[in-house]
Amino acid sequence: MTGIDDLPVRDELRGKSPYGAPQLDVPVRLNTNENPYPLPEPLVERIAERVREAARNLNRYPDRDAVELRTELAKYLTRTGGHRVDVENVWAANGSNEVIQQLLQTFGGPGRTAIGFEPSYSMHALIARGTGTAWISGPRSEDFTIDRAAAERAIAESRPDVVFITTPNNPTGNAVPRETVLALYEAAQAARPSMVVVDEAYIEFSHGDSLLPLIEGRPNLVVSRTMSKAFGAAGLRLGYLAAHPAVVDAVQLVRLPYHLSAVAQATALAALEHTDTLLGYVEQLKAERDRLVAELRAIGYEVTESDANFVQFGRFDGEGGSHEAWQKILDRGVLVRDNGVPGWLRVSAGTPAENDAFLDAVRELKKEQSA
Ligand SMILES: *Cc1c(COP(=O)(O)O)cnc(C)c1O
Repeated sequence: MTGIDDLPVRDELRGKSPYGAPQLDVPVRLNTNENPYPLPEPLVERIAERVREAARNLNRYPDRDAVELRTELAKYLTRTGGHRVDVENVWAANGSNEVIQQLLQTFGGPGRTAIGFEPSYSMHALIARGTGTAWISGPRSEDFTIDRAAAERAIAESRPDVVFITTPNNPTGNAVPRETVLALYEAAQAARPSMVVVDEAYIEFSHGDSLLPLIEGRPNLVVSRTMSKAFGAAGLRLGYLAAHPAVVDAVQLVRLPYHLSAVAQATALAALEHTDTLLGYVEQLKAERDRLVAELRAIGYEVTESDANFVQFGRFDGEGGSHEAWQKILDRGVLVRDNGVPGWLRVSAGTPAENDAFLDAVRELKKEQSA
């Protein structure tokens, strides 16, 4: 039978597997950091209305530059990010994964390199590979913080063209201090002119502030965002970035024309009209996240400090220990995530009832393991 490797695929894709979290049909799914709350009914109605309007013009291509949407995103960022941005600072695409792909197509590519501090969001490395950008795995400490000196050294040695800093980080949950981001930006610029991408997919859940103000006077710094997590709209596929207007001009060199469908633009605009309601859910999730941290510790687990809508917990020692624990939690009807960080698992904050089910499962697991 013909398989991938029998086809004339690019050498760097041979023997690789695609990104994929298991999509299992389980009562409690806490594995992909989705928002557990469905969109509120008035918003669903508003989406239907705006999509109906858009449908009347589907014979035409959509607004190629998504000006209305970028204007509303700029207002949202200005209101919540602690820094004024305008439409020319904002770019949008199909999920922040596409934003990241466009950034790597523009600033990475063959002969160029990108670095991230791992464990971190695995898609950064995968999109690097897909765009022919060489990937460098930068260091993280035992406690999953970024050691500034070690990271600066890695940057000085590898002189990357693109630097990814995920804050709050996925899958560990901890935020990167502003001073560290600034230090790594300086280290990167000292090595060669390079783009620093601050991935703020989870910033709405953070105890701290957005690093959006850092784009001021730093044209080589990009903040990337998404509506997949805080806005509860993972199915929408809408990500965006904020940066100097020149960055917005540059990514347009690689974006496919009309990449953002009229239906997606209309849906995102409807969601942005309901920002306050959606941010109310974020507050509930933050409280649940803090409860998960406290209760997991009370049960006797180690927990990494979390500024995200998920929590990393452990430790499950021994060869395959975390995978075994993952399976046992799944046997109790709760799906969490094994990110391949040895000894640790990740659980997304769900509804209070889902979190209770999860806590019951891991309480039993703890009893079983200490019996
Ligand atoms: C979930 C996630 C994204 C979001 O990806 P989308 O394509 O916007 O759904 C981006 N970065 C990180 C670190 C994430 O965890």
